[in-house]
Amino acid sequence: MSLEFKTRNCWDVFSSAKEQRAIASLAERYIDFLSRCKTERETVAYARERLAAAGYGRNAKGDKIMRDLHGKTLFIARRGKEPLSRGMRFIGAHADTPRLDLKQRPLQEQAGVGQAKTHYYGGIRKYQWLARPLALHGVIVRKNGDSVNIVIGERPDDPVFTIADLLPHLAKDQITKPVSTAFEAERLNLILAHKPMPQNGPMPKSGPMPKSDKDGSKKKEDAATDPIKARILTILNERYGVVEEDLYSAELQAVPAGPARYVGLDKGLVGGYGQDDRICVFAALEALLANGRAVPARAQCLVFWDKEEIGSEGSTGAKSRFFEYCVQDMAAAWEPRARFADIMLNTRGISADVHGAVDPDWQELHERLNAATIGHGPCFCKFTGHRGKYEANDAHPEYVAWLRNILAKGNIPWQMAELGKVDGGGGGTVAMHLAAYGMDIIDFGPPILGMHSPFEIAGVADLYATTQALELFLKA
Ligand code: MN
Ligand code: MN
Repeated sequence: MSLEFKTRNCWDVFSSAKEQRAIASLAERYIDFLSRCKTERETVAYARERLAAAGYGRNAKGDKIMRDLHGKTLFIARRGKEPLSRGMRFIGAHADTPRLDLKQRPLQEQAGVGQAKTHYYGGIRKYQWLARPLALHGVIVRKNGDSVNIVIGERPDDPVFTIADLLPHLAKDQITKPVSTAFEAERLNLILAHKPMPQNGPMPKSGPMPKSDKDGSKKKEDAATDPIKARILTILNERYGVVEEDLYSAELQAVPAGPARYVGLDKGLVGGYGQDDRICVFAALEALLANGRAVPARAQCLVFWDKEEIGSEGSTGAKSRFFEYCVQDMAAAWEPRARFADIMLNTRGISADVHGAVDPDWQELHERLNAATIGHGPCFCKFTGHRGKYEANDAHPEYVAWLRNILAKGNIPWQMAELGKVDGGGGGTVAMHLAAYGMDIIDFGPPILGMHSPFEIAGVADLYATTQALELFLKA
């Protein structure tokens, strides 16, 4: 037995033909998932569909429960042989991703184009969102409560949207500014349309319209002052039956358009939007559904949260009481005498979230001994936080050792990592909000290159290793 610990490359460990096939088929399913799910709502809908097919339902008395809040956060639980008061095997991941949200009053027209103003969501690098095709995803709810799902820009024949970038010829002043001020949020305006509404002559064919707008006189008025904006409103009205006021309450997100792709000659990597943290949502779901029949020893519980990227706030974020309510209802149905505190104190959890891999071109920003290498398996991040471990969950050694033992038995490569140099990096996850319940929990997930960019990169062998690890954890 070697006294020294060295991380291992997943490709060396999973070298059998059977494992290589398993990696490839998992990657195919993952690329399909990533291409279809670009918002928290779409991710929750995807998970619900797969869970429903596996027998999960709303009935709290059932052995397989799923329950969502506003279609944005999802609680999933599966009954075990042991009483619930002996604790759960818990995995939390987040389904929201950095993006450009449309402002509540988005439409404007200037210099020959109709635009939507945006307010970015989460930690983006603003310049990465310029000069690239963007799609619109989201929900518009009409006053009468009817809700319209929007996805524009994903089908090959769909138009896309974009934010024009400044031409180098006029960037003389911009290029001397620091990146933090060179790109201004108020210039992140999405080009939606170009053709003005005809000033005279017949109005374009319209679909169902609200009463006040039926005679088209309002549209003629708009056409006179802002003819391109009028065109946008007409198209939205024809296709979705909405008026400008409906946009005020809408949730519309501009996200990178198009499917996820393999990266590299060997198809060893996947590039795509939203892998932080949908790769963990996908891995956790795969892990849960892998053993559909055998009743697990302990109850298993997964939660996919919204709002992690903006501090886990709101009714659908990890700081909300939703998780607590779900566990209380589950306990009432399964084991009415179980104390909530016992369930939580006996629960062992994983905050499944991605980790920043060592960037081959920025290696000096990492502290090499405590940094993650892509391909070397999922990373434990014992503590997150920043500058003196501020705002960190710090997992206990007894717990980390227990987890290491599970991985060792399953022969799964793993690594221990910290995000960036001390005082140089850091970040937060949902772990600390769950640790508040007293459960044992640690951050764990695959390393990612280009995190928070419109085209994040993950290793398909890391995805496989993570899925295997989560499966073993749920069963442990
Ligand atoms: Mn994350
Ligand atoms: Mn993130």
